Amino acid sequence: ATAGIAHDMNTETLLRTDRDHLIHPVSSWKDHEAAGARILRSGKGAWVTDSEGRDLLDGFSGLWCVNVGYGCQSVVDAATEQMSRLPYATGYFGFANEAAIALAGRLAAKAPGDLNRVFFSQGGSDAVDSALRFIRFYQHARGTPQKRHVIGLSRGYHGSTYTGAGLTALSVFHRDADVPLAWQHHIPSPYPYRHAGDGQPETIIAESVASLRRKVEELGADQVAAFFCEPIQGSGGVIVPPAGWLAAMRHTCTELGILFVADEVITGFGRTGPLFACETEQVVPDMMTVAKGLTAGYAPMGAVFMSDAIYTTIRDNTPAGVPIGHGMTYSAHPVSAAIGLAVLDLYEGGMLENGRRAGAHLAERLRAMADHPLIGDVRVSGLLAGIELVADKATKRKPAADLQLASTLSRAGYEAGILFRAFGDDIIGLAPPLCCSTAEIDLLCDRLYRVIDDLRPTMR
Ligand code: PLP
Repeated sequence: ATAGIAHDMNTETLLRTDRDHLIHPVSSWKDHEAAGARILRSGKGAWVTDSEGRDLLDGFSGLWCVNVGYGCQSVVDAATEQMSRLPYATGYFGFANEAAIALAGRLAAKAPGDLNRVFFSQGGSDAVDSALRFIRFYQHARGTPQKRHVIGLSRGYHGSTYTGAGLTALSVFHRDADVPLAWQHHIPSPYPYRHAGDGQPETIIAESVASLRRKVEELGADQVAAFFCEPIQGSGGVIVPPAGWLAAMRHTCTELGILFVADEVITGFGRTGPLFACETEQVVPDMMTVAKGLTAGYAPMGAVFMSDAIYTTIRDNTPAGVPIGHGMTYSAHPVSAAIGLAVLDLYEGGMLENGRRAGAHLAERLRAMADHPLIGDVRVSGLLAGIELVADKATKRKPAADLQLASTLSRAGYEAGILFRAFGDDIIGLAPPLCCSTAEIDLLCDRLYRVIDDLRPTMR
């Protein structure tokens, strides 16, 4: 028997229908047809249950989004109440809804510095795309339309819209897609573990600053609009830059006269400890994008925060009666906003604190695993962690590509009853929910250690 709306379909029918009709995001269509999907049916706290009744400890919060864990009744109640009372209201033609107004107000009060203006999107990709459009409007409004170039990092990920995929530098998102676009550029990512030089924080920071300066000089300072980065690169392999890196890049953008945009889609909403990762270095971006933890995955929603200065420049240079031409049917959706408010209550009601405690325990446990011969690097920030596997610890040699460790790891993890993500065959990503107990973190680490240790006989 299956649950919910698909009540007339057994697991076998679901698997066949999925294979025949449902296109999955960022997946090999051939592999999907060959292997079929794993169907998840329910969740509670940090755990999900699949269609075979198997319980899995979710060490990745879905897709680094279910920060408050599954089955939070207050969130369900807020969504139900909003859905019964007013499931939809447009933000066009001068209308608004109470939930979105309240959420914008609360977020503006929490966001760094003067990021007081919030535009709600449906997720992270269109938050990034919206930010890029607002930047265009801003440059036109201030009389510098030639400032159109945008710079990102070589292991950055910024979503799957055309512009976001171009700003992303991961090759999967460029293949056969004719991106990056002509105005999109990349500089090398800070990558302490694989740094070619002395690996010292000051060296890495100085190199990133110099790369940005060089790229801006090459394009012409009067031609560059903005620099985008994730405070910690997530999909690029959970790469944590040295302390001080984010503040140095912010400062450099100010000196170069370009906007600094922080993409906090993963790092926002307690993932690294504070509400926003920028707070760790008292960084105030000109714009910030968020999604995921904003609604903790209970419904789609993202947001762009912009500074008062950007907002007023666009406003003051657009005549009254002329719309700023950017928006979607579901911008500021009331049900998502009601969920956002309920989730914010949870963060403020102890979830951030619990996440910090669980994160400290995760760091302790992972660092204790780091002397394993296959573990080259462990990097942790709050409840965001990356483990880099190597075939040879001394030389940092990567595992042989034909081992295809990513699929082996995810299969072995599933069999061990844990969910995590494997990137590019050599990096394991962890992002457990903030509601995790230390006992759950222990269980996750114990099981993960066994999964890694089991690779020893075949590793080369
Ligand atoms: N930006 C970053 C940093 C992300 O990690 C992601 C998704 O993982 C996105 C943007 C895109 O967000 P979404 O998948 O919600 O469209």
